[in-house]
Amino acid sequence: MARYTGAVCRQCRREGMKLYLKGDRCYSDKCAVVVKNYAPGQHGQGRKKVSEYGTQLREKQKVRRMYGILEKQFHNYFEKAERQKGVTGENLLRLLELRLDNVVYRLGLASSRVDARQLVRHGHFTVDGHKVNIPSCLVRIGQVIAVNEKSKKSPKFEEIAASMVHRNAPQWLEQDKESLSGKVTALPVREDMDQNINEQLIVELYSR
Ligand code: SF4
Repeated sequence: MARYTGAVCRQCRREGMKLYLKGDRCYSDKCAVVVKNYAPGQHGQGRKKVSEYGTQLREKQKVRRMYGILEKQFHNYFEKAERQKGVTGENLLRLLELRLDNVVYRLGLASSRVDARQLVRHGHFTVDGHKVNIPSCLVRIGQVIAVNEKSKKSPKFEEIAASMVHRNAPQWLEQDKESLSGKVTALPVREDMDQNINEQLIVELYSR
């Protein structure tokens, strides 16, 4: 599956905020948003005035980059969200939250969504006991996501087990730090999602 392969921190600088794409580095003072707090490129420190369309576009790009999704797939999520009952913007964010790679990240079983995506791809996780290696797979209420038994003994997961002690999952997930697993106990509601996102701007952008 296609994915963004450019400079990762450049995306955060472009959006003017931390998107937490690099795990522990994002919390250190080496973070590029801390070191160079301006947009990348020749005109990065120049013009600041942004049009209404520009603001909507930036919001969409920010969310797309946060979850590591390419344009076409993001638009597909939007169309799916529109067909669902309820508020389209919230539906969109809920669909993104329910992606397996995001759930792995939220459970503290990976240091970033990028990391989670790679670990899922490499077959380190099971859903209800079955190996699943598709990061975009949407999980459902009641499903149990776990590190597969073989992988638990690897140095990578020993490291994750140690750092998981300090990572708490959101309310809609039940974390089992002992067994490196977690359960989806509810659907995420708006309060559980990133408060820095203005999803209405994305709805407005796609409604143009
Ligand atoms: Fe973004 Fe993390 Fe890079 Fe900072 S270190 S710019 S938060 S990816």
